[in-house]
Amino acid sequence: MYPHMVLQKTIRQPVSVIGIGLHSGLEARVVLRPARPNSGIIFVRADLPGAPEIPASFKYVVNTQMATTLGRGKATISTVEHLMAAIAGMDIDNLRIEVFGPEMPILDGSSIQFVEAIQNVGIETQLQARPILVLRKKVEIKVAEKWAVAEPSSRLEIHGSIDWDHPAIGFQEFSFVEGMSSFEQIASARTFGFLRDVEMLKKRGLARGGSIENAVVLDDASVLNPEGLRYPDEMARHKVLDALGDFKLSGVAICASIRLHRAGHDLHSQLLQAIFKDPANYQIVTGSIEGSTELQKSDFVAPAVRPAIA
Ligand SMILES: [Zn+2]
Repeated sequence: MYPHMVLQKTIRQPVSVIGIGLHSGLEARVVLRPARPNSGIIFVRADLPGAPEIPASFKYVVNTQMATTLGRGKATISTVEHLMAAIAGMDIDNLRIEVFGPEMPILDGSSIQFVEAIQNVGIETQLQARPILVLRKKVEIKVAEKWAVAEPSSRLEIHGSIDWDHPAIGFQEFSFVEGMSSFEQIASARTFGFLRDVEMLKKRGLARGGSIENAVVLDDASVLNPEGLRYPDEMARHKVLDALGDFKLSGVAICASIRLHRAGHDLHSQLLQAIFKDPANYQIVTGSIEGSTELQKSDFVAPAVRPAIA
């Protein structure tokens, strides 16, 4: 059982998303534009001279503290993970993302507004097969009590768990299983943070835009947002959302079962690096591979695309 031949996708028309940057507190704007097959996801610092491009790849991750920051030369873009999760969840392969500043808009701290923007313009199927990474070996990263383990599977599965010694969090887990779970179950789960950390960051000139408008904020005892949580396990759902976005930085669709415990952007990035470090760990296929009888001619219409041979 391996993936069907699947065609690549982009969006039908450009669409803008405007919000504020978490750290600057200033307006942050992005424009998503359709892109040609096989071009992948490319960020552009459209406000800088020469409009430098930064591919959405784990190879360009320059910082994983609190958020995933991509960088190339002096150009950086922080907090790309929630848009990347929307792109992964909506099955999009090719996009040009113009960003007018060093930060993505934080919006409500989830992916839902990016999802709505993409839904508004629609998705277009392209006549090229999607490359899929099929994991061949178990790959794991363990750092103290945190771990990330990827194992071979016939579909993408992300199982996330967290364990915070806090009355409003505790142990939580959530699983996203391709074909079984809908992306809607995680798309609106918000990022979370502690009031004391937000106050400390503000003293350092960071998180100027941070508020209950764009995160679940907790004090030592409880959730401070008057509307409460969107789900009892919203934090675990958000961890899975972050992971889905970070793993999209592989540049391909991933076919693997990934188990994460107390993981974050650093472990996600390290896991991708470990997978790609050894070519024996994986195989890149475009659709069904040898031995599978599932591929029917009617499954795809792309000319000049041959399934990869094992
Ligand atoms: Zn997040």
